Amino acid sequence: MTEATASLTYADLLAAITAPEGQGVELKDPATGETVGRAPQSTPADLDAAVETARAAQKDWAKLSHDERSAHLNRAADAIEANAAALAELLSREQGKPIKNGPNAAFEVGGCVAWTRANAAFPIETEVLVDDESGRAELHWEPIGVVGGIGPWNWPMMIAVWQIAPALRMGNTVVLKPSEYTPLSVLGLVHVMNQVLPEGVLQVLAGDGELGKAFTAHDGIDKITFTGSTATGKAIMKTAAEDLKRLTLELGGNDAGIVLDDADPEAIAEGLFWGAFINTGQTCAALKRLYVPDSLYDAVCEALVAVAERMPMGVGIEEASVLGPLQNKAQYDIVARLVQAAKDGGGRVLIGGDPDESQPGYFYPTTLVADLDNDNPLVAEEQFGPALPIVRYSDLDEAVEMANALDVGLGASVWSSDPQRAKDVAMRLEAGSVWINKHGAIDPRVPFGGVKQSGFGREFGELGLKEMAVAKSISL
Ligand code: NAD
Repeated sequence: MTEATASLTYADLLAAITAPEGQGVELKDPATGETVGRAPQSTPADLDAAVETARAAQKDWAKLSHDERSAHLNRAADAIEANAAALAELLSREQGKPIKNGPNAAFEVGGCVAWTRANAAFPIETEVLVDDESGRAELHWEPIGVVGGIGPWNWPMMIAVWQIAPALRMGNTVVLKPSEYTPLSVLGLVHVMNQVLPEGVLQVLAGDGELGKAFTAHDGIDKITFTGSTATGKAIMKTAAEDLKRLTLELGGNDAGIVLDDADPEAIAEGLFWGAFINTGQTCAALKRLYVPDSLYDAVCEALVAVAERMPMGVGIEEASVLGPLQNKAQYDIVARLVQAAKDGGGRVLIGGDPDESQPGYFYPTTLVADLDNDNPLVAEEQFGPALPIVRYSDLDEAVEMANALDVGLGASVWSSDPQRAKDVAMRLEAGSVWINKHGAIDPRVPFGGVKQSGFGREFGELGLKEMAVAKSISL
């Protein structure tokens, strides 16, 4: 290991990013209420300075070849890998996700490495569009300039990398604004990546939505790539209209899963469970409403309860935990409100639904609710937590109609023993990604993004890279 990719201890990483005692905003472990650290808060003047630095750095960064920028990204991936333990601990303490089991904090840090390397590896070539007696036309992909990345709190490090890696690869420089709930995770990640990246190409400023608004309004930022709620996406689009700033919007979803009548309930139960409860349900492309045919309804409900019963929820940093708390009180309140609405609407609670509020931490138990109508709020709204409604259907067309009834469309899934039949249903679902016999299984090579009010633009793969570039044709 080179000195550049030295491994920091958790204490050293925290010391490098946290504000001095009495300054900044205090971040607390959502499971225990213990202080994790303090995030220094940036002002609009800090944003001006960061944008100036980013604009200056972008000139040299853009002059590098694609291979040279790839080499830098690979070194950044090495640095993340070398610091994986400290980063995972920071993420687990601040975000709340388990340190060891399930799709945990280490899984997220591993995702950061994988996505950085994948973005370094994609070939980027000039495309020859015409080459005949009429002449020759080439398509070049050029940097946009300075990219502002605004992110959420559920997968703070991984989503930051989804914004950083393609933007840097295409010759842009990046200024990030992480969620005010999880700034330390992104400050830590960027600190580690900046051990090896050239100065000024990647910066991070912590602050709340007002700072995000200042990013969107800043005339030195050429593009905003945003991941967060649909409501904030709309606000960003309005502000960005002032100077026609380019946008990628990865917004909320309410993913449907349809079980077909030929599925094997026992075989699919664990996949359904993790599709829904990954990161305690705080995942944009998690399964958020499940449609099950009459013939399999009871068997699927029973199989899901059996899986849920063996998944302990606890403090993220404790090794036995498989699921963690909700990250913040506002999210806890949303889940509690929606489960109450489900009970009020005649839903049958199969497990959970009754939080122990005498305990510290934002723990909402794993909850399955059966027998709901499609317009019950727990079905129709994005619950973004550990509560899955299970809706009965008797006719497949009706299930497809219910799945497509909402104004969002991020992911969806079909569960069946017959891949062709499942694919036929997948083709009818209004979503940017449809998975068969799995849910939310993202891959850096496969484009990801929403339809309808889940946003526009794509991340990952070649489409994701092109999202961070402008097309320029040259005709000879
Ligand atoms: P949010 O919209 O509340 O906040 C996201 C970010 O926007 C934060 O950094 C916040 O400070 C900032 N912000 C707030 N107001 C702003 C404004 N007016 N201008 C600019 N920035 C502003 O979202 P959240 O609660 O952090 O995240 C949860 C939501 O994100 C869920 O809806 C989830 O589905 C969605 N999400 C989508 C994806 C995806 O890839 N499509 C991935 C993860 C999360």
